[in-house]
Amino acid sequence: MSHVILEAREVSFGYSSSLVVQDVSLQVQAGQMLALIGPNGAGKTTLLKILAGLLKAKHGEVIAPIPRAKRVAYLSQSEALPLEFTVQEIVAMGRLPHQGLLGANSLEDSKQVFLAMQRTDITQFANRRIHNLSGGEKQRVTLARALAQNPEVLLLDEPTNHLDLAHQAELLEVLALEISRGLSVIMVVHDLILASRANSIALLHQGKLERIGTPNQVLEIELLERVYQTKLERLTTADGRTIVITR
Ligand code: ADP
Repeated sequence: MSHVILEAREVSFGYSSSLVVQDVSLQVQAGQMLALIGPNGAGKTTLLKILAGLLKAKHGEVIAPIPRAKRVAYLSQSEALPLEFTVQEIVAMGRLPHQGLLGANSLEDSKQVFLAMQRTDITQFANRRIHNLSGGEKQRVTLARALAQNPEVLLLDEPTNHLDLAHQAELLEVLALEISRGLSVIMVVHDLILASRANSIALLHQGKLERIGTPNQVLEIELLERVYQTKLERLTTADGRTIVITR
């Protein structure tokens, strides 16, 4: 039986007086992936930051594992990595929430850093400086840093942006393995084909939750055409997945 691991209850937020996230309730269960979709400006990134604890909801609440800094990892959309560090040093930064004031590396820290690099297949770059790496390789490094934190929930903001098809597939493979080990993932994605791989999808529109449910329930043509304001087509893949593409 899976259980709810992170939940938003009627969460609202505004940067100024107007709300950009309004009364949103959603949850993700252990070992599941929730995709967050919706047009630009719908409030996806803002909602993810609220779930991560980086922004505080004006109304409503987030029920997350405690302490959130250790147990929930957040990977933002575009992050400037410190170029002078090696790959291993950057991955080790994922351990910071677990370390005391002295910041000493424990055996557990070294083990988690090693495992994270292995799972994202970057061990061979361990001693390279980050500025020598390609975009896809850097993406794997930031994912490794998040995994090194050994979180229960991973919040990802468009992790497949800037990745070619092979690297997208690789990333999804790494995530699928972690999910099978019990990790929960909430992922903001633009690509509705990627979204269809999630266990459930939440569709945001103008700050409000339009619908949440299985891919089949959310990937509905009339609903999506209205929200995205474009003509779409729904297809079924050979393995029975529902996908939506632009017409
Ligand atoms: P999405 O991720 O779905 O594109 P965002 O959460 O980034 O949406 O943005 C939702 C709304 O909040 C948009 O209207 C955006 O302009 C506004 N917004 C986002 N970040 C800020 C900010 N730091 N200050 C003020 N307004 C912001």
